[in-house]
Amino acid sequence: MYPPNFDYVAPASLDEALSALAGADNAKVLSGGMSLIPLMKMRLVRPTTVIDISRIPGLDAITDEGDHIRIGAMVRHAQTATDPLVNEHATALAQAAAATADVQVRNQGTTCGSIAHADLAADQPAAILALGATMVAASVRGTREIPAAEFFVDTLTTTLESDEILTAVKVPKGGKSVYRKLGRRGSDSDYPIAAAAAWVDASYGTISDARIAITGVSSKPYLATTAAQAVVGTDGSSEAIAAAASQATDGVVVLEDLYGTVEYRTHLASVYVQRALEDVLQ
Ligand SMILES: Cc1cc2nc3c(=O)[nH]c(=O)nc-3n(C[C@H](O)[C@H](O)[C@H](O)COP(=O)(O)OP(=O)(O)OC[C@H]3O[C@@H](n4cnc5c(N)ncnc54)[C@H](O)[C@@H]3O)c2cc1C
Repeated sequence: MYPPNFDYVAPASLDEALSALAGADNAKVLSGGMSLIPLMKMRLVRPTTVIDISRIPGLDAITDEGDHIRIGAMVRHAQTATDPLVNEHATALAQAAAATADVQVRNQGTTCGSIAHADLAADQPAAILALGATMVAASVRGTREIPAAEFFVDTLTTTLESDEILTAVKVPKGGKSVYRKLGRRGSDSDYPIAAAAAWVDASYGTISDARIAITGVSSKPYLATTAAQAVVGTDGSSEAIAAAASQATDGVVVLEDLYGTVEYRTHLASVYVQRALEDVLQ
């Protein structure tokens, strides 16, 4: 199926892209195209202008910024999965990227595209929530930073404005993290039915801080705050982990679809929080 007609622009600079976005009515940013193009072909999204940011130099780098790493807008999943900095300082994100789709999608789709797209079952958002990352959003009005915890509003909806481009994600260094998922059709390389990312800061045998994020289970990826609190101040004992796992879906409306009932997803959320915590505390 072909999408309706649209204007296509491929700016050579970020400023040009931001001006094109500000000046267009009903425009969409195109990065990897792995979600936008199928939605356009199904005519679920009908932009009149598509602004392709893939030819803008400098957006495809992962850089060490001292206390954080910066992942540019055109960094592909495959690059995120294999980058040594991401693997060392943001392990959950590297694992989420490695477990995304198939090799073709990982070579084309971008980390920032996935975050901006905000599919309720996407892998990357859970990782960046658990890691306490910050989104960098640019527009002709300037640049602002949005904490991950304030970014995801609902399915396919974020706090990005329509004239903003997500130019990078900043991931703070410190702590340890993992991402564990059960993909649809029993494959770990498919959208998750349920998945959990866990980040902990532990020293001298005590967990001083923790974040747990869950995806695939509700209408948006979310921070399981009470679950994380259950392990803070403990030594990560099996009792503390079980207490955290039992609170994985507290305060959340659990999704039901052809991949799983509410009961099944609630159970999976608990199981994957337990696995993520056990692995990160090893
Ligand atoms: C067969 C298949 C299997 C998949 N399996 C998985 C999976 O297992 N797990 C998973 O998490 N994902 C999966 N995906 C989705 C994939 O990860 C996409 O790459 C990702 O969702 C979107 O990234 P993209 O760069 O392709 O974005 P695009 O498709 O280019 O854009 C997606 C949306 O985000 C917006 N956008 C993109 N970049 C920016 C930006 N920098 N600033 C502002 N807005 C922006 C676009 O306007 C559009 O609305 C799958 C996709 C396919 C086709």
